[in-house]
Amino acid sequence: MKIAANTVVSIDYVLRDDEGDVVDSSEGEEPLAYIHGHEQIVPGLERALDGRVKGDTVDAKIEPKDGYGERDDKRILRITRDELPPGMKPAIGMEVGAEDEDGEHIPFWITEVRDKEIVLDGNHPLAGKTLHFAVKIVDVRAATKEELSHGHVHGTGGHHH
Ligand code: ZN
Repeated sequence: MKIAANTVVSIDYVLRDDEGDVVDSSEGEEPLAYIHGHEQIVPGLERALDGRVKGDTVDAKIEPKDGYGERDDKRILRITRDELPPGMKPAIGMEVGAEDEDGEHIPFWITEVRDKEIVLDGNHPLAGKTLHFAVKIVDVRAATKEELSHGHVHGTGGHHH
């Protein structure tokens, strides 16, 4: 079976940046499982995997616009400690959710922790970066009706419920 829309794809992957440093990897975990064609992984990787089959290895170099987007300095926010959720101990890299006017969840990441002030960045930590993926396709199967209606994978690498 080829990878196409509405297939469940399981991959082992290593993600490196331009310097060759590993920034993310499925090593030591279950393979990542996602439903193809539903924007569950970055668009450039989804395109690179399209049409491939189980057992293929894929090396993909993905520009920021096809990855986590370009950086936008307007998405940097400075708040005081008392604006954080109660009981939260801020640390660099931690995700803090905010809501826009429409109640949509917008993730921010803590990039600086000072005595009184916390700096949040609404850019994904990998925004503006070229992504170098080394992927091994572990499995390809048709998504079930239930998975398509829930919008996520069930079983290995997905939801257990
Ligand atoms: Zn479900």
